[in-house]
Amino acid sequence: MNRRDFLQKTAALTAAGASLSFAYQQPQLPPQPDEPEPQGRMAYDGPNVILVRYGGGVRRRETIEDASRTYCPFIYHELWKRHGGLLFPNVEIESQEGIVTSHAQGTLYVLTGKYDRYNDIETGGRFVPQAPTIFEYFRRKYDVPPSQALIINGEDRIDEEFYTFSNDHVFGIRYRSTVLSLYRFKTYLLRKRIAAGEFVGHELEQKRRELERMENHDYRVENRRLVALPEIDAFWDRWEHYYGRSGFVNPRGDRLLTTLTLWAIRELRPKLMMINYQDPDYVHWGPRQFYTRAIAIIDEGVREIYSATQADEAYRANTVFVIVPDCGRDSNRAMPVPYQHHFNSRSAHEIFALVAGPRRFVPHQREPVARARPQQQTQVARTIGQIMNFETPHANAQSLLAEA
Ligand SMILES: [Zn+2]
Repeated sequence: MNRRDFLQKTAALTAAGASLSFAYQQPQLPPQPDEPEPQGRMAYDGPNVILVRYGGGVRRRETIEDASRTYCPFIYHELWKRHGGLLFPNVEIESQEGIVTSHAQGTLYVLTGKYDRYNDIETGGRFVPQAPTIFEYFRRKYDVPPSQALIINGEDRIDEEFYTFSNDHVFGIRYRSTVLSLYRFKTYLLRKRIAAGEFVGHELEQKRRELERMENHDYRVENRRLVALPEIDAFWDRWEHYYGRSGFVNPRGDRLLTTLTLWAIRELRPKLMMINYQDPDYVHWGPRQFYTRAIAIIDEGVREIYSATQADEAYRANTVFVIVPDCGRDSNRAMPVPYQHHFNSRSAHEIFALVAGPRRFVPHQREPVARARPQQQTQVARTIGQIMNFETPHANAQSLLAEA
């Protein structure tokens, strides 16, 4: 499809979607121009990248440090050792005043390639990327629609719904990514039910307010028309037909993220996708087994996603996996509650990265890439830019792959 066809198709789809989705929308918004969003013009023919946030904080000890005791045997023994790739065992989150080892922060360091001070007192727990995300760099250069630049999010991390674009005025919303999550599905469903006339009178008013609250949760997007995608509405429509409306039939927790990812690969054909796994973090409230079992569930998810790409002609020899934790966890045995990550302990800063894919994109090596100096979590952004061939001018300029 050339650019003109694409724009015409997008405009037609948008118009068709608008009549269904926006019929009820409040009239107080000023009319917005219906111009298609500007985006990159180059056709993208490089590899797909699947970025796995090995989420909720994991330590090296239970993942990559000991081959016989790893809780992620697929990633360690198969993805790295057998299918080829590079393991960087010595990646760190910099120890610096204000650089926090936690989930939101780590995710943003990965997405932007930059350590920033994110202060949740000022923003009420919601962080906005201060530098462009890899998705923005990617879509500013290439003609890739937002439905193929995806973030797969967990159910109960509403604050992570807002990493889709940065404050940077040169980049920002025009080059955003798109979130798939159960929260987005619930929002879609409520909008659809209101539009279908399911509610009347007082209940209708209530439901409209509820929808407004859910959609305005992303306070940076005041006009849904700017971010609504007919492809995503169609995705949720099929999801609804398969799983129904309750939200209880579909898999939960990190298994849900895996299922969403498999659906996304099949239905939306993403070029760049980030999966924000999170369940190892339940160890904050529970026994150690919560943590190790969650690591194994993510590992199983990555295995399923890898298998799906191998069974798919367009992805098979054309997909690179990048795996990196958001943060580590404490190892201090004196802690009354072990496995935290907020106390600036050494192992909370100690993570790793794995880059695995076909040899023409990633050099293969069976031994970990030994380095005298640790590498930084912020190098992941440049690494992805190098693999997908886009510049990341605001990010840490070193790729993990340099000299690998
Ligand atoms: Zn946590």
